[in-house]
Amino acid sequence: MNGNGKQKLFGFSTKAIHAGEQPNLKDGGTGDVVKPIHLSTTFARKRLDQPTAGYEYSRTGNPTRNALEEKLASLENVQYALAFSSGMAAETILALTLLNSGDHVVAFNDLYGGTRRLFETTLRQKYQIEFSYVDARKPENVEKAIRKNTKLIWLETPTNPLMRICNIAAISKVKKNKNIALAVDNTFLSPYFQNPIDHGADIVVHSATKYLGGHSDAVGGALMIKQKATYEKLKFNQNATGAILSPFDSYMIMRGIKTLAVRMEKHNDNAMQVAEFLESNPKISNVYYPGLKSHPQHTLTKNQTKGYGGVLSFEIRGTINHTKQFLQNLRLFYLAESLGGVESLIEHPASMTHASIPKEIREQIGIKDNLIRASVGLEDLEDLLIDLNKALKKT
Ligand SMILES: *Cc1c(COP(=O)(O)O)cnc(C)c1O
Repeated sequence: MNGNGKQKLFGFSTKAIHAGEQPNLKDGGTGDVVKPIHLSTTFARKRLDQPTAGYEYSRTGNPTRNALEEKLASLENVQYALAFSSGMAAETILALTLLNSGDHVVAFNDLYGGTRRLFETTLRQKYQIEFSYVDARKPENVEKAIRKNTKLIWLETPTNPLMRICNIAAISKVKKNKNIALAVDNTFLSPYFQNPIDHGADIVVHSATKYLGGHSDAVGGALMIKQKATYEKLKFNQNATGAILSPFDSYMIMRGIKTLAVRMEKHNDNAMQVAEFLESNPKISNVYYPGLKSHPQHTLTKNQTKGYGGVLSFEIRGTINHTKQFLQNLRLFYLAESLGGVESLIEHPASMTHASIPKEIREQIGIKDNLIRASVGLEDLEDLLIDLNKALKKT
């Protein structure tokens, strides 16, 4: 959807609540304060020689999805956004649109496991697209990896699961004057804490399943796009392949976004306190959370983001068996993949989210067998700390 850009004047929460959902008070308009779920798959026209009222077929355009897309665009301060059936669908269409066989991608070496699987199994093995994985904490590593056929730089910041940070502005300078797109997966911080396009990115990727939706009850994905020409190519391919978000899930994610600001503040507060608690516990050897002063990139983070988010990871001082024991002794933190919902979740990257990455590559990156990733929810902090403390005592 091409947002109208009017929302630029408003603050984040105002945009999150109002963008795409202004009541229609014109003649015949019903004045809905909330965008209805439009289920019609097709839209009739009066006569063959007259255009439709704006919609033809729901794969191509749907009023509920378009409202969400307008909201999404406003949150990343751009005009263009597309809503997909999942984060992976968004990533797939982005890659297939920007890349041809023989093209090259430079990617951060610490990535969401599913992204790495898409790159390696589908794009590299089947479509001969080349990938270099580098430690993008140093922008010069990205620069050195650029080749004549490089078309895309792919970043996550903070990374998953090690919470490493890269400098988006510095990396955008590295590719200046070259025909290379910079895409940033902004799922972990959400647009409330970080806006990569403001720092020089061209495209932002979101798994809307996580913080945007926020309640672990809808799967979706989004692309926010700076350039009109890129948006039009992506929109064409989304329609051609059919990777669209349903009207119901569009509604669910729109509903989630309205409370994003207050949720992110509380996720951030709870995660900060959980990180400090874990850091002071002798049974924990390392805590990775950008909000901690001990995080090696704490200062860089502060210059690029407005907060640190609700995800953190840490290592149990002990073996894989101690790690399992700890996970099994928790009651409030559910042992489950995913993140960004109101409930606290905890998981074991080596055997869950990042199991599709070969062990030697996992170890090379630093994803050890005693590493645990937590998504700190919105429960009472006291209850979360008691839960963690009890489980650690039994470990
Ligand atoms: C979950 C996730 C994805 C994939 O999104 P889906 O909605 O699960 O397809 C991509 N990137 C990050 C960082 C994620 O956490």
